[in-house]
Amino acid sequence: MATIQVSERADPSERPELLTASDATIEDAVEHGDPMVLRGLLYQLTGDPELKDMALKTARVGRAESVMPAGDAEVAMVRRKAVEFLKRYRDSGAGPIDPGPLERLPESLALIVGETIKSEALDLMVEETALDPWARSLRWSRKPDPERLENFKVTVIGAGMGGLNAALQLKRAGIPYQVIEKNAGVGGTWYENRYPGARVDTPSRSYTNLFGVDFPCPYPYGTYAENQKYYDWVADEFDLRKDITFNTEVHSLRWDEASAQWEIQASGPDGKQQTVRSNAVISAVGFLNRPNMPDIEGMDAFEGRSWHTARWPDDADLRGKRVAVIGTGCTGYQLIPEIVPDAAHVTVFQRTPQWLFPVPGYLSPTPPQLLWLDRNLPFHTNFMRFRTFYGAGPDFVRMFDIDPNFKDPHSVSEVNKAARERSIEFLRSKLDDPKLVEIMTPNHPVWSARPVVVDPEYCILDALQADNVTLVTGGIRRINRTGIEAADGSQHDVDVIVYATGFRANDFLYPMSIAGRDGTTIADLWAEEGARAYLGCMIPGFPNLWTLYGPNTNGGLPVAQFHEVTTLYALKCMEHLILEGKAAVEAREDAYWRYNRIVDEGNSRKVWADPRAHNYWWTKYGRSASQIPFTGYEVREFLQRPDFADLEVR
Ligand SMILES: Cc1cc2nc3c(=O)[nH]c(=O)nc-3n(C[C@H](O)[C@H](O)[C@H](O)COP(=O)(O)OP(=O)(O)OC[C@H]3O[C@@H](n4cnc5c(N)ncnc54)[C@H](O)[C@@H]3O)c2cc1C
Repeated sequence: MATIQVSERADPSERPELLTASDATIEDAVEHGDPMVLRGLLYQLTGDPELKDMALKTARVGRAESVMPAGDAEVAMVRRKAVEFLKRYRDSGAGPIDPGPLERLPESLALIVGETIKSEALDLMVEETALDPWARSLRWSRKPDPERLENFKVTVIGAGMGGLNAALQLKRAGIPYQVIEKNAGVGGTWYENRYPGARVDTPSRSYTNLFGVDFPCPYPYGTYAENQKYYDWVADEFDLRKDITFNTEVHSLRWDEASAQWEIQASGPDGKQQTVRSNAVISAVGFLNRPNMPDIEGMDAFEGRSWHTARWPDDADLRGKRVAVIGTGCTGYQLIPEIVPDAAHVTVFQRTPQWLFPVPGYLSPTPPQLLWLDRNLPFHTNFMRFRTFYGAGPDFVRMFDIDPNFKDPHSVSEVNKAARERSIEFLRSKLDDPKLVEIMTPNHPVWSARPVVVDPEYCILDALQADNVTLVTGGIRRINRTGIEAADGSQHDVDVIVYATGFRANDFLYPMSIAGRDGTTIADLWAEEGARAYLGCMIPGFPNLWTLYGPNTNGGLPVAQFHEVTTLYALKCMEHLILEGKAAVEAREDAYWRYNRIVDEGNSRKVWADPRAHNYWWTKYGRSASQIPFTGYEVREFLQRPDFADLEVR
């Protein structure tokens, strides 16, 4: 099992709020707790055997099958025990508390999810409890020479979720670093995407770092503002801002073999060019960071205002306006229901409908009682985090497999078909007009493009049925002075055009120019087949460069976790250089191709290889540069320690 150093966890020495809590407050809070989480947590803390023997049942909650207590009596038993525990803990002073024997953890976690956790996945799952919030930090295998350490300088490009974690981990490891960020603040995606309705579709408890496990989640799915709060907290709590050069964009990197350093060219707020030299670079420039503007005839002729959703103007006021929204991916479907109530008219230009996954309570806040448990029931945040992460199980990615023996015109497997049927059932439940059901039913199989999570109470389907909405599906011919001419010749005059047209997802590292060891650029290397990397983070010929959210790192693990394991991998490579007095490390070309063949082979058996899917999960080169076909525990295993047989160190 993973080594966890729980002693490093910042368990509050006192819980003053609990000390003064009434019995009624405790009972009310526990009533809102997840009984399975309470069961595993209490078992971990007390070892009470009655919790282990509880009868269970499997039932569907939203879209997922979930194991839960068999009946009311079992739920009542767990809640009673939780109330008793909290009262006892309160009455004994609510001081620091031990998380119970670590050997018990596998069993306690299994009690939460109602199944034994397979041994291959256990280390990842234990890590995800964040009982050790620094489990994905570098622990030096021996003390580095201070001079060598001081002379090894790292530049991190970008201060979004990935760059902030990299900065913090470098700081903890004592490796000198600086961050260069083109924006005026931290947060990346959530600093830039402030359109109405912008929020995560990954549960917020899984969308933070291990060290952020106790950060409050007032929404189960955080809005952009809540996400931004988290990044500001990371930057302030760990005093990272002073190491970030804001308003400065990196344009080029050139590897200088003689000095074994990267020469980095950047431009600051006044346009002044700066040159920075560093031994290593971590690129954390994001995957969905550069807006993708369509190329439509006449775009410049439009006399109203227009903008991309990632550039939402602070003074945008759509009240009483006629608005066109071009694009209906996740962003369009999040935005449209928010603007319809106030706009005079909204014209939606939809090329491809998306599969909708209704999640009850998607837009609702977290009940205050649950937040109370987060603050007052020791380790509640940890076990809730684990429960959320475990989701549909450790082999979640296998749900995307194409079953070669499954014959169906629309679906690729039994589970894929069931998901499709549930989504169509949802469309039918929301839409009165069968014609609209047909229009909103995607042609591509479920999961061959990113499905859109929606709140069944109010979502895009409600918006499309409003009197002030027109849905145009036949395409756009041109944009003109007053609005948009559709392919069928109809003219749609508008005051504002919003481009919800996504990002240049497959243009990894764009628009930076990166020249490697022999002067070849990454653009040259990728010219014929698009972006690839070894383990998603290293490229042969480009020493001491690691990419976060690089090629084929979408999926497998949620983004925060993927950033963490990749960053730890990069730091372990740097540790090797520093301890061994070496200058450079890069992926060997044979290892790069071997890894990519496994990735391509795996992806060819996933639903996103379906020819009906046209989206950024599949490239024009006939492969996916974004998706990873591995489970989370396989990803962790690949990145757990550098395999120096695959790397060239000099
Ligand atoms: C609207 C939207 C919703 C999303 N929802 C989810 C979700 O629910 N779940 C999920 O897992 N993912 C989601 N994503 C993906 C999201 O991008 C990642 O979750 C995460 O934010 C990536 O973090 P990052 O640090 O890798 O990149 P980013 O957050 O994109 O940060 C990159 C940073 O690098 C900076 N930068 C870029 N180029 C340069 C340069 N040349 N010089 C200097 N600085 C530079 C940028 O300014 C930015 O600050 C969403 C994306 C969008 C756009």
